[in-house]
Amino acid sequence: MLRKDLCCLVIILAAQAGCSSSSNRGGANSSTTAVRAPTSSAADVNQVSTTTRATTRTSVSSEVATPKAACQKIVADLAPQLNGRSSAMFQGHKVVFADVALTSKLLTSRDSFYEQMSPLDRQILAVSKDPIDNVKLDADLSKAARNWDSIEISEMRATIAEAQRRADSAGVNFKLPSTIVLAKTSAEIYSGSPYTRCATVFSSGTMLPSVLLHEFVHIVSRYNPEFRATLYPMVGYAPCIVSLSSLGDDVRSRVITNPDTEAFGEYCITLKNDAGLPTQYVPLLIGTGEYSGKADGWTEILDPVLVEVVNDNAVVIDGVTSRTALFTQQYMEAVGLNGEFEPFHPEELVAINLAGAIVPEDGIFPNRGLVADVKAAFIAL
Ligand SMILES: [Zn+2]
Repeated sequence: MLRKDLCCLVIILAAQAGCSSSSNRGGANSSTTAVRAPTSSAADVNQVSTTTRATTRTSVSSEVATPKAACQKIVADLAPQLNGRSSAMFQGHKVVFADVALTSKLLTSRDSFYEQMSPLDRQILAVSKDPIDNVKLDADLSKAARNWDSIEISEMRATIAEAQRRADSAGVNFKLPSTIVLAKTSAEIYSGSPYTRCATVFSSGTMLPSVLLHEFVHIVSRYNPEFRATLYPMVGYAPCIVSLSSLGDDVRSRVITNPDTEAFGEYCITLKNDAGLPTQYVPLLIGTGEYSGKADGWTEILDPVLVEVVNDNAVVIDGVTSRTALFTQQYMEAVGLNGEFEPFHPEELVAINLAGAIVPEDGIFPNRGLVADVKAAFIAL
């Protein structure tokens, strides 16, 4: 997901690293120097940065294929509505412009993201200060569906063509499903930040080619989850198995799920804790404090953390889930320094590096070697 104002948020988070709920127990880096987000142009902030949301699942081997299978069924059921619409082509894949009716169906489809949402997720999606059930959520989501107008479609056709030209020039072939959907929603959902579910890119407006390519990486990953075993270790993560249910009650209902990363607990990172001992962590996004019910309210409570893991379970002591700040120098070095504004999850790190390989001017990449390596690995898959 792409956050419009993430740069500012990251600066705030960086300043708070080690002193917010991020550090609940002396985990890795809680006392190390926080990383300050790089400065960025307004255009970068609006179109390039991406947000990750941790997600929720229960095991690796049994669930890797689940999001893909659910998506395949949803897309198959909607196949009649995908035909005969305005469309474009990207590397041989049909890109369909959804209307308001189709977008409503896509927003309310029961994919793995929908099924695993936390109570806080539902409030944020519905922009609701109060807890809501699925009936109310579906009604609010349907109201958020929009039609693309002819000018936007024309602009997105140009974006798609430029994205293909860039990808072809870089020698990168996107192994996407045969049909991709572009769906427009209210700018109130995730503050208008682009994100994906199944084979759909949701956005509140037109996108830059680099942003579209970033979102396409997520769709490729969702439909080819086996690619992660090659790509995620390149940004510092290793396979693990951590169940969402092992999180303490203090954070489980506060999880903010990134639709781009369905997989909670598939991959972990090992860092040194305060005692200098190697410690395993799983990344997670949680909300701190009450959600205001305003469109940007989620950005005010978003807190990226690393949850300590021992024996495939989150460490919970006296009801408190052991976690530490994610934005630290040690973490950034471990993921290869190219996290830019949202190094919250290996899925986003891979997408940032790959988009940076194809459109290198749209981003800040201290480690160009990693960008080249991720691109080479992606091509070889
Ligand atoms: Zn993303």
